[in-house]
Amino acid sequence: MKIAVIGGGYAGIAAAIELNRLGFGRQTTLFDKRLRHQKITQWHKLARGRHAEHYEVAFNHLAERFNFNFAHRGVSIDALLADSDNELAGNFDAIIIAQGSHTPANPPGVLTLDQLRDDHASQHLVMNMTGKNIAVIGGGPTGVQFAFEFAARGNEVDLYEARDRLLPTFDSALGLSAVAAAKRKNISLHLMTEFLEFAGGKIVCRNNTAGGGVEKRDADHVLFVPGVKSTPAFTCDQFGRLEYRSDRRFYAAGDNSYFSGRGLNTKSAQAAVRKGQHVARTVIADLEGKPVEEYAYPELGYFVSLGTDDAVGYLLSQKTAFSGRAALFMKEMIERQYNLYLQGFPVYP
Ligand SMILES: Cc1cc2nc3c(=O)[nH]c(=O)nc-3n(C[C@H](O)[C@H](O)[C@H](O)COP(=O)(O)OP(=O)(O)OC[C@H]3O[C@@H](n4cnc5c(N)ncnc54)[C@H](O)[C@@H]3O)c2cc1C
Repeated sequence: MKIAVIGGGYAGIAAAIELNRLGFGRQTTLFDKRLRHQKITQWHKLARGRHAEHYEVAFNHLAERFNFNFAHRGVSIDALLADSDNELAGNFDAIIIAQGSHTPANPPGVLTLDQLRDDHASQHLVMNMTGKNIAVIGGGPTGVQFAFEFAARGNEVDLYEARDRLLPTFDSALGLSAVAAAKRKNISLHLMTEFLEFAGGKIVCRNNTAGGGVEKRDADHVLFVPGVKSTPAFTCDQFGRLEYRSDRRFYAAGDNSYFSGRGLNTKSAQAAVRKGQHVARTVIADLEGKPVEEYAYPELGYFVSLGTDDAVGYLLSQKTAFSGRAALFMKEMIERQYNLYLQGFPVYP
C-alpha cells in the first residue's frame, strides 16, 4: 500500500503523523516544494525581528520522527489529476491533496505573504523595518497581527480594510476591540477603503464611504494581505474524499478543501490539522474496506494577537469573546500545543 501526501503544511503534516500513528508511516511519501514545514500562523513575529527559521522545521527531521518518506518536489495538481503515476513518478493507492492557499494577486511593488514565505531578502526587510511608513492592506487576522507588530517597532502604520471594521469575518465584538486597540497604538485605520495601486511611493485607494473618493498617501512599504485563495479548491464528501472522482483514490485536506457535513471548514490551521488527521483515517479505512467516520470537528476558538501584550479571541463560541493578556496567553498556548504535536506528543486526540 502506498500513500502520497501533496503539501506538508498543517493539513499535510497532520495527515502524515496520523498515517504513522495508524502504522502506515513507511508507506507514506510527503511531497513538498519547500524543504521546511512552515508554522505560518506565527510569521507576523518576523515583524518583531524574529527570524523565520524559528517557525520552520526541516521536513527531513519530521520524516525521521514520523517514519514517512519526504520528496522535495512541487507537484502540478492538474497533471496529478490527469495522470498521477506520471506526475508522482510512482504508483500510489491513495493521494491526499493539501497544498494550501495563496495570495490571490500580486500588484507591483507590494510585499505578499507568498513572497515572504520563500524570499530571504523580503524576510530580512520585514525583520528590520523600523521608523518607516508602512501600509498594510487587509484587516483580517494576518493584516491585523502584522500591523500591530510593525507599530510596536516605531513604524507609522496605515491599515486598510475594504469592509467597515477590522476582523470582518468574526463577531463584531472582536472587530471593535481590535479597532479600539489600534487607536491606542496609533495605527491609522482606513475602513471601507479599497486598495487600487502602489506607485511612485504612494498608495492609491478608494474610500467607499459617503463623500469619499480616490485618496493618495505616502508609504515606504506595502504589505498586501487581503486574504488567501485556493486554486484549485476541492469539494469533498463528509469523509474527505474528492466528490467528483469516482475512483476513490483522491482525498483533500486543509485550506484547499471543503468538506460537506458538520465539521469546521474555515481556512485555519485548526481546521487544517483536524481535516488532515481525519482524511488519514478515511484513507486507511477505505484501503482496508472498513467503515469510515464523518468529519464533525467543532471549532474550539480563535485568537489574534495585537502586538506583544494584547490579543482578542474567543473560546467555543464567537459570543464568548475576550481580550487582553488572557487572550494572548491562550494564543501562545495554542502555538505551544502545536510545537508539542510536532515533537510527537498526542495533543490532538
Ligand atoms: C500570519 C498568519 C497568521 C495565522 N494565524 C492563524 C491562527 O492563529 N489560527 C489558525 O487556525 N489559522 C491561522 N492562520 C491560517 C493558517 O495558517 C492556514 O489556514 C493554514 O496554514 C492552512 O494549512 P494548509 O496545510 O492547508 O496550508 P499551508 O500551511 O499553507 O501548507 C501548504 C503546503 O503545501 C506546499 N505546497 C504548495 N503548493 C505545492 C505544490 N504544488 N506541490 C507541493 N507542495 C506544495 C507548501 O510548500 C506548504 O508546505 C494564519 C495565517 C497567517 C498567514
